[in-house]
Amino acid sequence: MLKTHSCGELRAEHCTQSVTLAGWVNRRREHGGLIFLDIRDRWGVVQVVADASSAPEVHQIAGSIRGEYVVQVMGTVQRRLPEAVNPEMPTGEIEVLASDLIVLNPAKTPPFEIFSEHEPNEETRMKWRYLDLRRSRLQRNMKLRHDVILYMRNFLNERGFIEIETPILFKSTPEGARDYLVPSRVHPGKFYALPQSPQQLKQLLMVAGYERYFQIARCFRDEDQRGDRQPEFTQLDIEMSFVERNDILNLVEDLLIGMVETVSDKQLVARPFPRLSYAEAMDRFGTDRPDLRFGLELTDISNLVAGSEFRVFSATVASGGRVKALVAPGCADYSRSQIAELEEIAKEAGAKGLATLGILGNGEIKSPIAKFLAGDLLETIQQQAQAGEGDLILMVADHPAVVNEALSALRTELGSRLGLANPSILAFCWIVDFPLFMWNEEEARWDPSHHMFTAPKPEHIALLDTDPSSAQCQQYDLVCNGFEVAGGSIRIHERAIQEKIFELIGLDIDDARVRFGHMLEAFEYGAPPHGGIAPGVDRLVMLLAGESNIREVIAFPKSQRAADLMAGAPSEVDPAQLSELHIRIDLEK
Ligand code: ASP
Repeated sequence: MLKTHSCGELRAEHCTQSVTLAGWVNRRREHGGLIFLDIRDRWGVVQVVADASSAPEVHQIAGSIRGEYVVQVMGTVQRRLPEAVNPEMPTGEIEVLASDLIVLNPAKTPPFEIFSEHEPNEETRMKWRYLDLRRSRLQRNMKLRHDVILYMRNFLNERGFIEIETPILFKSTPEGARDYLVPSRVHPGKFYALPQSPQQLKQLLMVAGYERYFQIARCFRDEDQRGDRQPEFTQLDIEMSFVERNDILNLVEDLLIGMVETVSDKQLVARPFPRLSYAEAMDRFGTDRPDLRFGLELTDISNLVAGSEFRVFSATVASGGRVKALVAPGCADYSRSQIAELEEIAKEAGAKGLATLGILGNGEIKSPIAKFLAGDLLETIQQQAQAGEGDLILMVADHPAVVNEALSALRTELGSRLGLANPSILAFCWIVDFPLFMWNEEEARWDPSHHMFTAPKPEHIALLDTDPSSAQCQQYDLVCNGFEVAGGSIRIHERAIQEKIFELIGLDIDDARVRFGHMLEAFEYGAPPHGGIAPGVDRLVMLLAGESNIREVIAFPKSQRAADLMAGAPSEVDPAQLSELHIRIDLEK
């Protein structure tokens, strides 16, 4: 090794010891005949002193050194003078007096300062990702990610799970996104699909008798990017045989509670994690991903306003829509422009408008619609929504889905505006009792709410023939602070039911047999009842790290436009490669 110690480990008890260090120059300061170099490695930063009077050659070399040079330092650990002690630094009591200094490799001036907390812009960070990764924030995040994955592996190993790798070159295993395709050279005109998850493979491992499987699995989905999405991401993929729903929920809950306590200082608000039905979550929070760090629940006031003179309300209810309210505490005196901002959020979520009612006190009401709310309606709305003096009531009238989406977006906004979304808290909750299908308006057919391998509730199987819209499934999602952090289900393990689901989601049965014949056939060779789940590693680490984008916890993420700006991927390829694959590029001009 070119070093005897790491930079970060040196303390007062190392005083008088001779050490050899190696790392990067964080910064250099000159002070009379002394040059101070902060040397950094993965474990921390330590101050090195080059003294012109005791070691003139070393001092001279130190004078030529710039930030990010890679150096090796030989020297002796000594106590700093009392006035030079830096309590902010773990190594702040000591310094290393250099007796020799070797430049292992000089460095060009980097495009941004590595040690500074100042955030370079996104594009610069992505282009120079290997320099960005030197910054302490990302070093911390990468270590946390390692701790999380190690905890998962150890925990599951102790519970009798084994990790099995599944192929990346496979056939489409759909999770509702577009596939990434890989052309085959050996089979001209044919393609592999990168798995959107190992879903089919882990189910086949259950048929194969492995009973307890897990994998730190890479998944690939070609879909629009957001802060919590990347084209490739990592899941803790789990599958178990002979289980019921609660076995899986309890397992994951134990895993996460232990993990949070071991690797982070975040607080868990409730354990066991609360369980909400899908219907209850939509009703109370307008979303199946509620942030439970704060209340701000929605109130349905449709019945109250059905007969009101405010046409927007009464006509909406008459035509089967709903009117719901959300109370913004202490916001009664919001200015016109503040209210316009909230209205914009509601509109982005599809609402046509936002009705507001400010309760100023002394019976005074600030509301453009007050004049239409006759009699004691104003008061009943306040009572029902549990709004008091100083509060602002926000109301949306529309199709139930639009109302929920708009008010849930406003709820999230208020949570952060009003400082209710405490960053040191993790509020996990389970969402259960999902509908089996969601209606796909665009394509006029049923979409599976989770995926097509999810089992209906046994007592709802008969509904598949009579009323699929009211059938519920054995899906469960885990939500934390407004993010979906895991999804799973008890699976179908019988061919007839699987074929029925294919039919209901509009898959031609012959087509389904071509695409999923291996699954259907496997179900006829002794498939055990089974179920599983897949917590998203990136999202969990993001929440534990207190970051708001999963890019911050992935070493080499893609940009917003799914590109790697450092290496320049995707890129054009050699024409010879294309011709080997029998592919011709036909770009529209
Ligand atoms: N394959 C599912 C997903 O990626 C998870 C599961 O059902 O286990 O969301």
